[in-house]
Amino acid sequence: MQGRIGRRRFLRGAAAVATLGALHGCRLTPAASRGDSGTRLQLSPIRASADRITRVTVCTRPFRAAGPRLDVEKVGVKTVVHNYGHGGSGWSLSWGSGAIATAHAMATGERDIAVIGCGALGMTTALLLQRAGARVTIYAKDLPPNVRSAFATGLYTPDSRICLEEHATPAFKETWAQMARQSFHSYLGFLGLPGTPVEFIDSYAVFDNPPEDTPRTAPDGRPAFAELQSELLADLMPRPDEFGPGRHSLGQRHLLRVSQLMFNLTSYTQALMTEFTANGGRIEVTEFHTPADFARLKERTLVNATGYGARALFGDQSLVPVRGQLARTIPEPEVGYGLFYRNVGFVPRRDGLVFQVAGDSEYYGYDDDSEVPDRDEAERAVTTIASLFAR
Ligand SMILES: Cc1cc2nc3c(=O)[nH]c(=O)nc-3n(C[C@H](O)[C@H](O)[C@H](O)COP(=O)(O)OP(=O)(O)OC[C@H]3O[C@@H](n4cnc5c(N)ncnc54)[C@H](O)[C@@H]3O)c2cc1C
Repeated sequence: MQGRIGRRRFLRGAAAVATLGALHGCRLTPAASRGDSGTRLQLSPIRASADRITRVTVCTRPFRAAGPRLDVEKVGVKTVVHNYGHGGSGWSLSWGSGAIATAHAMATGERDIAVIGCGALGMTTALLLQRAGARVTIYAKDLPPNVRSAFATGLYTPDSRICLEEHATPAFKETWAQMARQSFHSYLGFLGLPGTPVEFIDSYAVFDNPPEDTPRTAPDGRPAFAELQSELLADLMPRPDEFGPGRHSLGQRHLLRVSQLMFNLTSYTQALMTEFTANGGRIEVTEFHTPADFARLKERTLVNATGYGARALFGDQSLVPVRGQLARTIPEPEVGYGLFYRNVGFVPRRDGLVFQVAGDSEYYGYDDDSEVPDRDEAERAVTTIASLFAR
């Protein structure tokens, strides 16, 4: 019992873990079960080495302390439905958030609708609008794969940097849970498709000491980020399994295994764009400098899904950039599990293995809009994971 309480305390405090979402499942329930009885867990080694890095990408999370902006605004004769500011949860909430924006847009009575932006939120909302009967044109400065969304980890992490705890009111929680559940169920509909756009993986949190003995990161006086998943989505994930030393192939360490929903963003994005164009969707590459530029569009109802771009376009100073960097290495189809070790996450994406320094709190990268890759950080991510397989 003591161990369980300790583990729960640890997991609550491990904000870095929450960043990747690799351990969200662990927070869902404090009680881990002992992994499959009798069998020794054999994790196939990862060829993690700096010379296998193919790409280092940087992305800016569009974080708002109060959570995403989902209201409706009049700009001249245009109705603008906002759908931006999803922090580290844009993919995870895209279907539910898109559904809210779709309802607002369809309520105007217009059936020719513009979506500004072609990232996670823009693409998904455009599809939902089509499914609701609208003719949709996407207007965007950049298209996939050159949008920030393309540089995300690709995990279902619906409360990652979604808002500050002090803004997680009962009304916010209700909306968030609805968005998160709707998205989760929409993603399940992509399981088993050719190209594996979405799949479940096992993720292992690896501890050098028993999890309950691992010191948690001390609060540093800054406001806490909201943690909503364990409270509001506990039923969506199975409870974690625990593997002690001798029960797995990673030496004397302690492992917690959770199930994670993973998005292979290359094939998933392709699936979205294929459906959009098959439904008659149009795309126009263009940039807007002020909301007044919307006057040139023929559509009277617009969905603003510009992500961090809304800070400049709408002067939304409440949007804070939170930098995050991925190192990609050559794909290894035989590796199908994720890891989280010493604040580094590893995700076995089919379009390239992903390594990421998550830092020791959700403030890692906060208020940093630099998009310059940091090679040292990339190599540190890869070598930290490699150390698990060193002989
Ligand atoms: C390292 C990292 C890992 C992440 N991992 C995950 C994860 O595993 N799961 C998850 O759910 N989320 C994750 N996120 C968060 C996720 O990436 C974001 O929440 C998401 O990308 C936001 O999508 P968006 O569509 O709002 O913005 P964007 O992807 O930035 O798209 C904005 C679109 O608007 C266009 N645009 C912007 N301004 C203008 C303008 N003025 N005129 C015309 N067009 C404009 C852009 O060209 C683009 O097409 C991660 C983020 C980072 C940094």
